[in-house]
Amino acid sequence: MTIGSCLCGAVKYEIDGPFQMMVHCHCSRCRKHHGTAFASFAIAPLANFRWIQGEGDVVSYASTPHSHRPFCRHCGSVAPNLMQDAGIAACPAGNLVGDFSFGMEAHIFVGSKAEWETLTDSLPRFEEYPPGVAAPAIPGPVRSGMPGHVTGSCLCGDVTYEVTGTPSRMSICHCSRCQKARSAGEATNVVYPDSQIKWLSGADKIREYKVPDAKFFTVAFCERCGSPVPRISKERGIVVVPAGSLDSDPGARPQAHIFVGSRAPWLPITDSLPQFPEYPT
Ligand SMILES: [Zn+2]
Ligand SMILES: [Zn+2]
Ligand SMILES: [Zn+2]
Repeated sequence: MTIGSCLCGAVKYEIDGPFQMMVHCHCSRCRKHHGTAFASFAIAPLANFRWIQGEGDVVSYASTPHSHRPFCRHCGSVAPNLMQDAGIAACPAGNLVGDFSFGMEAHIFVGSKAEWETLTDSLPRFEEYPPGVAAPAIPGPVRSGMPGHVTGSCLCGDVTYEVTGTPSRMSICHCSRCQKARSAGEATNVVYPDSQIKWLSGADKIREYKVPDAKFFTVAFCERCGSPVPRISKERGIVVVPAGSLDSDPGARPQAHIFVGSRAPWLPITDSLPQFPEYPT
């Protein structure tokens, strides 16, 4: 049996194994809803899924007339998507804890992956759905930023922002808090001095959740769609931009993997970027 929970702990659930399928999805909706390069889902028959607590803390954003994106209203973590018609529960792998081992099978929707992401592993890759899945094509959201400007937005589009100038760094964080917060295997972030962000809309729609025992770790997310949005850390003078929220190429590319000491066992690192057990030295 596999246990899952959100970052704040309000939402907990369990799934009887084994999972039917496990995929990494690079579609633009997943990138925005998870705020990183791709989402990873472990898919189980609906009958094998049970809430332990917090079902009432899950709210949902209707991303299309036929699909919804559930998340914890307190911390923004993505919640399992219970698809009644298909009879499946798609569980965000970054939120699964406990003793489980199963294999990732494929990258899907690589046709819409971010320009700043380079795939280096040997899993099969599909432009959209894998063969045998007859589902309707779901376009967008494709928001092209203003030419010459680096802009970003949440999935619903309420929160939009612009960043200017050169980022301080871009890194891929594997810490356990990022895995839970982004409900994904890692969090790819672009860090700028905090003077370099300007909100274009929706600054009043942003909610924050600070992990109680953390020095700094705080997530910011759109209250309507749950998407991670840039988080300004006044104490440190920086803004941490979830790379998945970007609508334009920031110019930078990931420079390092950090906190690899807590890497998800199901997400091996296959590129040649420098790796640091915790913060870079
Ligand atoms: Zn939560
Ligand atoms: Zn997707
Ligand atoms: Zn939103």
